[in-house]
Amino acid sequence: MRIVFNRVWEKYRSILTVSTGVTLFVAAFGYLGALQSLELSFYDAFMRSRPPEAIDPRIVLVTVDEATLTRLPRWPLSDADLARVIEAIAAQSPDVIGLNLYRNVPINPGTERWQEVARQTENLIGVEKIGFPKVDPPKILAELNRVAFVDVPLDLDQRQRRAFLSVRTSEIGQRDSVADPDLPNNIRLSFAMQLSKVYLDKRGIHPEISQARQTIIPWGKARFQSLIGYEGGYAYGSVPGYQILLDYRGRQPEQFITISLEDVLYDRVPLGTFTGKIVVLGTTAISLENFLYTPYVYGAISAEHATPSLYIQANIVSQIISAVLDGREFLRAAKPTVALLWTWCWTIAFNVAYWAIVMHQAAPKLRPGSLERQLILGAVATSLIVVITSYLCFRNHLWLPTVAPTLAGLGAGLIMLVRQRSSFARLATTDGLTKLANRRYFDMFLDQCWNDKKTRRDLSLLLCDVDFFKRYNDTYGHQAGDTCLVTVAEVLDEVVRKSDLVARYGGEEFAIVMPGCSIELAERIADKICRAVYQLNVEHRSSEVADRVTISCGIASTGLGRFDQTYDLIEEADRALYLAKQEGRNCYRVLYSLASPTSTSSTSQLARSHSDSETQHINAVDQPHTTDQPTDRPL
Ligand code: GH3
Ligand code: MG
Ligand code: MG
Repeated sequence: MRIVFNRVWEKYRSILTVSTGVTLFVAAFGYLGALQSLELSFYDAFMRSRPPEAIDPRIVLVTVDEATLTRLPRWPLSDADLARVIEAIAAQSPDVIGLNLYRNVPINPGTERWQEVARQTENLIGVEKIGFPKVDPPKILAELNRVAFVDVPLDLDQRQRRAFLSVRTSEIGQRDSVADPDLPNNIRLSFAMQLSKVYLDKRGIHPEISQARQTIIPWGKARFQSLIGYEGGYAYGSVPGYQILLDYRGRQPEQFITISLEDVLYDRVPLGTFTGKIVVLGTTAISLENFLYTPYVYGAISAEHATPSLYIQANIVSQIISAVLDGREFLRAAKPTVALLWTWCWTIAFNVAYWAIVMHQAAPKLRPGSLERQLILGAVATSLIVVITSYLCFRNHLWLPTVAPTLAGLGAGLIMLVRQRSSFARLATTDGLTKLANRRYFDMFLDQCWNDKKTRRDLSLLLCDVDFFKRYNDTYGHQAGDTCLVTVAEVLDEVVRKSDLVARYGGEEFAIVMPGCSIELAERIADKICRAVYQLNVEHRSSEVADRVTISCGIASTGLGRFDQTYDLIEEADRALYLAKQEGRNCYRVLYSLASPTSTSSTSQLARSHSDSETQHINAVDQPHTTDQPTDRPL
């Protein structure tokens, strides 16, 4: 079980770690609100593409539009005219009347009459504005405790996507009051909520309003739940009060039954129009500047795209009563943990898709650019699937992040691509068995050192070949031969300097490129190599040199003369190696050209060897083969 787990973990570790890391990074960005506007633009697009719902017949709007405004005796209406309008509506027995007009000062004539009508019309609710700038409610309605606030939570782009059901008095700097015996004394209801409450109270359906905004409010068929921040694209702390996402009924938020205030004023409304309805009175004339913007406005906002606040209030009322009476689903933002999980899953999906593409494209078949093209196509396809899935969830009343998973997925994909690229590059330049640089990389590195005048001046090359390795294979088997090569490779890598490159030159031959290395130093390193391999004490009973595996080295160095090209340097090292083999193996040799360095192929060469004792160039074969300490001379 553990082995299986380890194998799976090994295989998918990088996908999981990269996905988790990038998800957390993007989520942190989201919590700071950095993705808010992008997430909201998807939200708007999703909302715009939903089909509209039917007109809500329970709501009737009495409006003052631009045309009516010109025909009315005056605007604002006098208190007397307002009283006449309210009386006319009340005469048809609506369930509740909302007065969505600021009437904080008396407008004579008729103030007394208006006060009398307001007092008698027990289901009349007035409005006030509690945020900046504050607008007081109609005095008489305030005295009668029939006032609610019309403030709305606006997003940074001035669009209204949320609605208040209530706020706590502490949030608006007000003192607790006991205005409504049905409510906790630190709660103030919004206008739409108040109208809905009166309407639904009449039907015997009462909410259990609570102080805590995390609390679910059961009400009829609905279970209200407030946004608490960190949801959808909203940053923490940006959602005070008890808010819900405003689920508009359709593309035209103004789709409601409307009656002109003029018709009400002059008694031209058919009987029964207001009976049993929620009647909301307000202005729709844009010149009166009581308007807002909705998600249905695409691009920059301008007055021509404005929606009168009256329609928005009507939408909120409709949303509340439809939820309570009809069980219409709420549009909910996913909880932060769900959103995080959702983002994480998509990031993994992106990575798996990416991985599948890379695996499908077997490396040798790769044409330049084709992998990138496929990956871009894969990323576009996965992003589209994220958008479509998010939209389908939105249609099912769940708002999930769209930008966060796409960003996280693309980011993780990019990281994996870079990692894959570098691992491809590593594979292309590494020897599979010994993990040393391969011949290809050796050629590149040597060329690089050669082309740089500074490094070329003191460039040494070592060619090393394991002695009697064919016999080793024959004696111990090919597998053991491989293991031996790996061990020797490790030793070589340990012995050389950090700046040197050890490569597998071929078969059991290794090449070491040593930039900035004099011939003396190269000899010391070669000696060290011979000793280190000897000291490995890997048994080799069929070797003629020792009872263990040994190695021979040939050295060439630009410090010894002028070479025309890298090929000459390699050839020189090869000849030195050949000499080392000839002269007994388990040793190193250097060839000193007596003639000009360009004629290194001439036979006039003198090999520096272990017998050249005055020059102190030691050689591993000087040492007794029976000891692990081949020399007592300092290196
Ligand atoms: P010498 O001391 O003259 O170098 O003798 P040698 O037997 O090492 O010489 P030769 O070059 O003829 O033999 C090299 C052998 O190395 C031949 C081949 O079987 C073996 N060899 C080459 N590559 C590998 C490898 O990757 N793994 C194993 N196990 N053996 C290899
Ligand atoms: Mg050999
Ligand atoms: Mg060989």
